[in-house]
Formats: sequence, C-alpha cells, structure tokens
Amino acid sequence: MSFVSLGLEPAITRALDALGYTTPTPIQERAIPLVLEGRDLLAGAQTGTGKTAAFSLPLIQRLAATPGRPVSRTPRALILTPTRELALQVHDNLREYARHARVSSTVIFGGVGMGPQTDALRRGVDVLVATPGRLIDHVEQRHLDLSRIEVLVLDEADRMLDMGFLPAIRRILAMLPTQGRQTLLFSATFAQEIKDIAHRFMRDPAEVQVTPQNSVVATIEHRAHPVDTDRKRDLLLHLIAADSRRQALVFARTKHGANRLSEWLEKAGVRSAAIHGNKSQSARVKALDGFKDGSVTILVATDIAARGIDIDQLPLVVNFDLPTLAEDYVHRIGRTGRNGSTGEAISLVSPEEGPLLRDIQRLLKQDITLVAVAGYEASRALQMDASLKAARRPGQTQAQRGARPGGKQGSQRPGGNPASRPAPKPARSAGQGGKDHRGHSGQRGQRAV
Ligand code: AMP
Repeated sequence: MSFVSLGLEPAITRALDALGYTTPTPIQERAIPLVLEGRDLLAGAQTGTGKTAAFSLPLIQRLAATPGRPVSRTPRALILTPTRELALQVHDNLREYARHARVSSTVIFGGVGMGPQTDALRRGVDVLVATPGRLIDHVEQRHLDLSRIEVLVLDEADRMLDMGFLPAIRRILAMLPTQGRQTLLFSATFAQEIKDIAHRFMRDPAEVQVTPQNSVVATIEHRAHPVDTDRKRDLLLHLIAADSRRQALVFARTKHGANRLSEWLEKAGVRSAAIHGNKSQSARVKALDGFKDGSVTILVATDIAARGIDIDQLPLVVNFDLPTLAEDYVHRIGRTGRNGSTGEAISLVSPEEGPLLRDIQRLLKQDITLVAVAGYEASRALQMDASLKAARRPGQTQAQRGARPGGKQGSQRPGGNPASRPAPKPARSAGQGGKDHRGHSGQRGQRAV
C-alpha cells in the first residue's frame, strides 16, 4: 500500500518522501480514503499511530483543491487539541505535510500574549490549530470568525473531556456552520459524552479503530500493587525474596532514584546494579553483562537507558515508579514476554500515582488488576479519578504536571536480609481464584493477599 494508492496527490506525497514516510500506517490506510471522500469520521487511535497525518493529509488535499487567498479572521479548517504541546506538534506536522501545497496555517493557545496570534488571524489562514479556551477568547474579542469552517478535527477528544473542556467544545461546535461541514473526531476511548457529541454533531460518521503499533503482547500478565511511596522498597524486597534467583528489570523514574534503590538492594543482600545515562559506557556494559550472565539479580534502570536492553526470556519487569508518560509503560514491559514467552509486569503504585495508572490503562485499553499485598497496603485509596482533573490542568502535559508521584524516596534503612523476612505469599496467586478487581474502582477494588 502506498500513499498514492490512497488517493493522495504529488504535492503531498513529495512532502512525505522528504520525511521518509514510505508506507501508510494502519490508521492512515483506513482513514485517508474516507476523509478524501468527504465522510465524517470517528477514529479510535492514539498518539504514536500516525493519526496526525491521517487527518492532516486529506485535509490539506481538500483545501488545496479550492485554493484562494485566505480571508482575514476566517479560517476554513479548525483542529482542536487539548494541550498547547499537542497543538504545537500538530501544527509542526501540518506545516511539513503542506510544504508543497498552498495551504497556510497558524496555531493559537493560552498562556502567551494574544497580540501575535491576533495579527496572524487578521492576515488570514486556511487552517487554525487551537486549544479550546484561547479559541473562545479570540472569538469573543472578534479576532476570529468560525462561520466558514469546512472541516473540524477534534484531536484527542477523550483528553479534552478529562480536562473539563466539554462545555467549551459544545460552545465551539455551536458556532460552526452545520451545512457541508466535515467533522473528524480522534479519540483513544469513547465515553458516552464522546458518542453524544458524535451523534449530535456528525453526519453518519464512518468508524475506524486501530490498536497502537506498540500494543502490548498478550502473553504478559500485568498487576499493580497499591503501596505507600515510603514502603515501596520493602515491598519490592518482599516480592523478589519469593525467589532469590529470579531476575527482574526494575524501573525507576530518575537516575538518582535508580542509584539509591540499587545501593539499598545491595545493602539488603540482593545482587543489584543500576543502569542510566550518568553511568559510563563501561559501567553500563558491566551491569548489563552481569545481568545477562546471572550474577546480577536486579537491574535498576531508567527509561532512556533501558531502550537498548535486549534480553531474551526476561520474565519480570517491575515499575518501581510508574512512568510519567503512559507510552513508556509499553516500552518498559516490552522487555518481557518477547518472542511468545510469558512475562510479568508488576507496578508498585502509590496513591498519588493513580492518574498515571489510569493513563496506562487507557493506553493499553485494558484494566490492570490491583492487588494489595498483606502488610504493605497503601494507607489511602488510589486517586484514580478524583485527582485526575486537578492533576491535569488545561495546557499542561503529563510531564509538566507539578506532582512527581512517588518520586521522592523515604529515608528508611535497608530491611535486612530478605531471607530473614517472613516468606511472602506468591503474589501471582493474588488475582486468581475469584473475580478480578479492577483498577477503575480504586481502593474498593483492592484486596489483600
Ligand atoms: P502521531 O501518532 O501522529 O503522533 O505520529 C507518530 C509519529 O509517527 C510521528 O513522529 C510521525 O512523524 C510519524 N509517522 C506518521 N506517519 C508515518 C508513516 N506513514 N511513516 C513513518 N512515520 C510516520
């Protein structure tokens, strides 16, 4: 399958050649012909699937087919995104894709002065990429007229909802022309509110759904243990003490965190090494070789350092800290369950890390069983839903959220020789033998083993 066979014209395929895109991704393959036909589209796709090109390429082609000087303050297409970072990223991509087409664009978002945005709107653009709040500000101040929008794209609609933008989106939709408008909605998940928007504001939308390219292999068993931040080390020790020969790759969020954890494990009698960006190449090779030959039982790694680790048959990955970006969870646990072998992914989740766990579940489109380990239960419920809105203020990326859940370690002393500790019950049995308790229900869904 080529971009040409999807119906894209040379002005666009030339730009794709320059970017090194040789074949369309699954979402592009399915969405582009439908959008070129003029259909409304409900697309289940998330970041990393190539969704931006899936809507941008046919959008550019449609606008380029009827070129003309952009009308001041009156764009022809609107792409709404939840955050300024996504708005900038989409706009950058759009400009690359439109490099050889006569389609102009600009991007507007909050937190910066309105002046340059107002000037750009006054000069006129074909495509406007915007976050909802700032868009409404410009409309209210009459810098912007949405009455001639031909194509609307709602990108990451589920995140917009999470961030409380539903009323803003409804307001914006009400300002758009209804006749002849094409609407494309991209979302990782389809809550009822999103279906309602689709039902009210879209015309017989075609539906396409893709799994992310980096989807997680089915042979991996995922489990999360709710635990207070300052008890994570003890719980880790407790879990690995069950089988002192069993190797695990343990992820920490920071280099210092990785170092401290590895040193602590060593003091507790576990053969451990840390691998991260501050280590010399020779130290990294030594740690990795030790892990491969079995002389190191626990390798503590940061995300970047772990990218290149390729070890067959690694049975266990532990997220000591949950990754700030849900996509990193997929990379992390991609270290296990390779080539059809089975693997386990265990996450130690502090109450503040609830929103991160929720993000991961949404990315995986799968709930992760929450299992409290007896003696290590978290002192309060995971804030799965409650803190999400607070944690994600509009305009913030995940990475920018102030909270660094679980980032700071307590100053406990090492817990002694794991062998001297009470033998842990095998955690594996925890989720079995009954109804699974799922993450969405927070603490109520946890049970002790
Ligand atoms: P997105 O899901 O839109 O954020 O895209 C994820 C990444 O894939 C971006 O870096 C794109 O530049 C890249 N990409 C999108 N489509 C293709 C393609 N057909 N071939 C290669 N890379 C692509």
